[in-house]
Amino acid sequence: MYRSTEQIDNILFDLNKAVDAHYDWLINMFACVVNNNIEQSESINVNSHHLCHFGRWLDGHQSMDQEESNCLQAIEATHTKMHHCGRELMWVIRDKKTNTDKFSEFKHRLTLFSAAVTAYKIYLLKMRSSVDILTGLPGRRMLDERFEQQLKDVSDQNMYMLLLDIDRFKNVNDTYGHLVGDAVLRELAQQLRDRIREGDTAYRYGGEEFIIILYAPSDREACQAALRLCKSVAATTIRCDDKALNITVTIGVTQAWAGESIGVVVKRADAAMYRGKQTGRNRCMLMDEGGEIHLITS
Ligand code: GH3
Ligand code: MG
Ligand code: MG
Repeated sequence: MYRSTEQIDNILFDLNKAVDAHYDWLINMFACVVNNNIEQSESINVNSHHLCHFGRWLDGHQSMDQEESNCLQAIEATHTKMHHCGRELMWVIRDKKTNTDKFSEFKHRLTLFSAAVTAYKIYLLKMRSSVDILTGLPGRRMLDERFEQQLKDVSDQNMYMLLLDIDRFKNVNDTYGHLVGDAVLRELAQQLRDRIREGDTAYRYGGEEFIIILYAPSDREACQAALRLCKSVAATTIRCDDKALNITVTIGVTQAWAGESIGVVVKRADAAMYRGKQTGRNRCMLMDEGGEIHLITS
């Protein structure tokens, strides 16, 4: 699971709008105080943190991973406390019991809320910078950052790595030019996105190499998934301008075992893929637990 740059931009836009709505909220609080009708203010409601624009945005927003969930929990906690503190401040103003402590506390709550929102924006921007600009797939940085945690989180299934490399891609560039080559990379990325299951993720690892992290109960299912991908790529004609071309890929498959670093797993997948290149291309190879490499046939 990952977000496209467009989805991240939309979240940032909505988040900023929701934060801005708090300025209106504050003005409304002041107006109610000045006009002596605090009871009319929504701020006085014990559920004001759900009723305000920001609260509604937050209630409808889903997290995608643990880090995002931590960010959103921090925002929710600081936002709720800020509202409670604002409400208490209005009560003491109404009762003419104001003291500087309440104002200081409210300011402190505002600062904590703002810091939690900033931390979430940093998370989103970091995620945005990890998306590959050409294909829109998450790039190598995101894979590197996520891999070890993903491996720890594996429960009932096994985690597999598929390393795909386009066959004779240099010929595509040499024959049709780099722009067509770029279009082919984008098209392949779209095919991968469309053909992997939810929960599995395709990354652009570099150049004309892609990595898919997939979950399967056994080597057999993982190999079948790899073979399906390999065959469907070969069977799909890519159209670019007035040209129609076909590409093939060679795929190296290996399981990722608990505690392994990404480098170790990539090395195995790469060795399997390289054997596929040496023995004819347009094929899938599995490196098994014993380090043996097999051609996947069905
Ligand atoms: P093989 O079957 O052995 O993998 O052959 P290949 O031609 O695919 O491999 P090689 O490593 O010789 O060439 C890879 C080519 O991929 C060379 C490089 O110009 C091209 N390439 C890498 N990144 C991009 C890109 O972003 N856009 C385009 N158009 N080409 C790229
Ligand atoms: Mg390559
Ligand atoms: Mg290649």
